[in-house]
Amino acid sequence: MSQNTQWMQRDLAVLWHPCTQMKDHERLPLIPIRRGDGVWLEDFDGKRYLDAVSSWWVNVFGHGNARINQRIREQLDSLEHVMLAGFTHAPVVELSERLVQITPDGLSKVFYADNGSSGIEVALKMSHHYWINSGQPGKKRFITLTNSYHGETVAAMSVGDVPLFTDTYKALLLDTLKVPSPDCYLRPEGMGWEEHSRTMFAAMEQTLAEHAHEVAAVIVEPLIQGAGGMRMYHPVYLKLLREACDRYGVHLIHDEIAVGFGRTGTMFACEQAGITPDFLVLSKALTGGYLPMAAVLTTDEVYGAFYDDYATLRAFLHSHTYTGNPLACAAALATLDIFEQDNVIEANKALSARMASATEHLKDHPHVAEVRQTGMALAIEMVQDKTSKTAYPWQQRRGLAVYQHALSRGALLRPLGSVVYFLPPYVITPEQIDFLAEVASEGIDIATRDSLSVAVQADLYPNHRDPG
Ligand SMILES: *Cc1c(COP(=O)(O)O)cnc(C)c1O
Repeated sequence: MSQNTQWMQRDLAVLWHPCTQMKDHERLPLIPIRRGDGVWLEDFDGKRYLDAVSSWWVNVFGHGNARINQRIREQLDSLEHVMLAGFTHAPVVELSERLVQITPDGLSKVFYADNGSSGIEVALKMSHHYWINSGQPGKKRFITLTNSYHGETVAAMSVGDVPLFTDTYKALLLDTLKVPSPDCYLRPEGMGWEEHSRTMFAAMEQTLAEHAHEVAAVIVEPLIQGAGGMRMYHPVYLKLLREACDRYGVHLIHDEIAVGFGRTGTMFACEQAGITPDFLVLSKALTGGYLPMAAVLTTDEVYGAFYDDYATLRAFLHSHTYTGNPLACAAALATLDIFEQDNVIEANKALSARMASATEHLKDHPHVAEVRQTGMALAIEMVQDKTSKTAYPWQQRRGLAVYQHALSRGALLRPLGSVVYFLPPYVITPEQIDFLAEVASEGIDIATRDSLSVAVQADLYPNHRDPG
């Protein structure tokens, strides 16, 4: 029995995996990884996979990055962890200083959580609590965009709108206000991104006008709705939203958990709109993909509304046990060093252009409705009918066929439904981008064959794995 198979069997006896129908593993092999090196992941039988999705969008500088490893090791020798209430430590102070420095002006205080969803909970609670402390307790609802995703905890799910993740739990969710997304995939034929995003703002303006008195904040994923299928929109929407939030006295929360740290082509997506949100939530690439941590940045104004004598009970008494973990902070500091020393944002421009040219031909594919890109994120929308943009029935799992083909070719591409996307680590080479494009093209050809819907259950990929 191969080592892969042994680990898979031991795993399936005791583990329950995230975002997985476990029965799938009766026919889909689980892939045990024994080491990572740069963009590569290597399984126990020695097969390598190019990590085109940065291991769920976290890994920006490769697996086993020597500089990040070194920084964590040094930290490990002095302090692994200390609670952050009443205590502090050097890496958390340094990281907070640097986050304040590199984010837009006006964000001056940093609160930590230990994963993205928890970071969203912090921002939602802080926003509502701010209004309570400011004598407006009725401001307790949140406005969110259709097709948005903000995490898996209950309040984070409430401000999300990807039915696959939230529908089952409807009964538990907060009552939020949903406004149609400026998603440019849905723009009318012939209309540009900017005009569409601008037009779509009318619905937001109207919702704010009607509900501002009961709304604490608007929460958005700036520029890219990630889990909703890498749907993209123009920065003008964020600019209009900032102005409107100011006019109506409503907070603006930017969830840059997925898009922060260079993914959209600038260090943070809000830079492209030239705005400062009231809350900026960061996670994922914050630690270079090493350790779970989230940071919520906010303004002096928000901070000030909580700052008072203890007995006024205005403090934000929210805590996650591992808040500000020193090892995670060390990983984040090393990550920020790399951004600075290697001039990464600038260097990414060439990679981003290569992603565009390598996939250009897919625009003509009979089952590709759109190839869209924002910075270092590129998505290819597979459809049943190109002209009408008719989606494939989800039950056919066309994306899964791309996933399986890519694995057989040594690439980790994990489509979101019928959307194949590249969100690679920034240490990818131009040649590796070409390789990914080739694998994706082949995978899309296979996945969009008419016969696939029946064949996907059968052993369509007999050579899918080399059992070694
Ligand atoms: C991943 C993600 C989250 C949730 O982060 P977790 O660390 O998985 O809890 C929230 N918002 C966005 C935009 C994300 O992509």
